[in-house]
Amino acid sequence: MSKIKTGAYTAEAERGFDHRTAMEEAARCLLCHDAPCSAGCPAGTDPGKFIRSIRFRNPKGAAETIRENNVLGGTCARVCPFDRLCEEACSRCGIDRPIEIGKLQRYAVEQEKAFRMKILKKPRSNNGFRVACVGAGPASLACAAELAKAGTKVTIYEREQKAGGVLTYGITPARLPQKVVDWDIKSVEGLGVEFVFGAEIGGAKKGALTAEDLLAKEGFHAVFLGVGLWKSGTAGVPGEDLKNVLRAVDFLKQARTRGGFPQMQGKKVVVIGGGDVAMDCATTARLQGADVQIWYRRTIGEAPANMDEIRYALDLGIGLTQNFAPKAFTGKGGKVEYAVFQGRDGKSEAKVACDYAIFAIGQQAEDIGAVVSGAATTGKGCVAIRGGGRTSVKGVFAAGDITNGGSTVVEAVKEGKEAAQAILRYLNKGVK
Ligand SMILES: Cc1cc2nc3c(=O)[nH]c(=O)nc-3n(C[C@H](O)[C@H](O)[C@H](O)COP(=O)(O)OP(=O)(O)OC[C@H]3O[C@@H](n4cnc5c(N)ncnc54)[C@H](O)[C@@H]3O)c2cc1C
Ligand code: SF4
Repeated sequence: MSKIKTGAYTAEAERGFDHRTAMEEAARCLLCHDAPCSAGCPAGTDPGKFIRSIRFRNPKGAAETIRENNVLGGTCARVCPFDRLCEEACSRCGIDRPIEIGKLQRYAVEQEKAFRMKILKKPRSNNGFRVACVGAGPASLACAAELAKAGTKVTIYEREQKAGGVLTYGITPARLPQKVVDWDIKSVEGLGVEFVFGAEIGGAKKGALTAEDLLAKEGFHAVFLGVGLWKSGTAGVPGEDLKNVLRAVDFLKQARTRGGFPQMQGKKVVVIGGGDVAMDCATTARLQGADVQIWYRRTIGEAPANMDEIRYALDLGIGLTQNFAPKAFTGKGGKVEYAVFQGRDGKSEAKVACDYAIFAIGQQAEDIGAVVSGAATTGKGCVAIRGGGRTSVKGVFAAGDITNGGSTVVEAVKEGKEAAQAILRYLNKGVK
């Protein structure tokens, strides 16, 4: 297996456009009147408009189009599944190949940063309302930005020490450098949104507030829940509680907060799953110098992971075995030694030596009852909503992964914005 260079963990997986290549790509755009690319974006960004600005050498106009619509424009430029959204809808697909909209968006946001443009500004007047957002992931950040633009005073309560949610504590920095996330968050701060870190709403610590406390005791007029899904699913097979059988989000979080997972260097790692989370776990382990194998219960064609992520994993020398599901783990001295897989045909079996196994087979909701009591939930423990984010509890709204069961960053942004509109409607009905 090829050696991994030192520092590869944080090195960017893909280079962006320089001025010349951005201009060349923008020049391929047909400037369609009906811009189907725009209809393909869940957050409603208008690529046709910002590509036109790039083409006419107006980087500020391009950055404005992106940032005013999507406060996480820099992040989305890195992690959106473009091939299934705007690029799939692009008119050039019928001629040769779609415009590389994602890379052009990345270029525009890089220009915004390079020239220190300050596009979103704190509004001069306020509407007299105060809203608390729980969690500082994409859904809350988008909701908070929308509310702040309307003159609402917003405080975000986050249990970790940094904002970003999965962007900061999950997705591998090779795909999404922290500086890109931080630049997006700066735009939210620029709107006057306040952050309280190390504050777990409904947490076990003495004096921890609940959503009800935020409304009744802290004087907020509404509460938004954007808490995401932080419990990892497992297969419920024998031996999964052995040492070094890890859960995806715990592993990724530890890798990101401690600057990697150096103890994996030269070790055999088995990753179980076929989604983006599995690819991030596999590439993160590989970039620590581990010998990594992905095992997936279906075929690559059925895998939910983005094709580019699968390709990136394979390019790094990671092996992928399809049609095998975990059956058991065996170990010595309480530590995992082998992962046993069962073939989809029901007959084949494989016993694989490993020092670590990582489960990346889906995320689940934590106990939402601790955060807000009595909120109606779906069968999977997610918060049930209607009308753009209203929960069954008066004054409490929700969006993002905790309501949709796990989707994408751009969906969380879209839903966070919709919830902000629902909150403003609720507030303007005279809740004060
Ligand atoms: C490893 C991984 C890779 C992914 N890759 C992609 C990708 O490439 N492209 C893509 O579009 N999507 C990807 N996703 C999905 C995407 O990241 C999520 O859909 C998105 O982050 C959801 O945003 P959210 O705000 O709902 O939740 P989160 O991002 O989970 O944020 C929730 C925040 O709430 C905080 N919190 C939770 N409970 C409390 C509490 N009680 N009190 C205070 N704070 C609390 C958490 O600490 C966290 O900061 C990936 C997900 C994972 C896990
Ligand atoms: S659909 Fe494609 S070609 Fe048409 S405006 Fe959008 S990016 Fe340009």
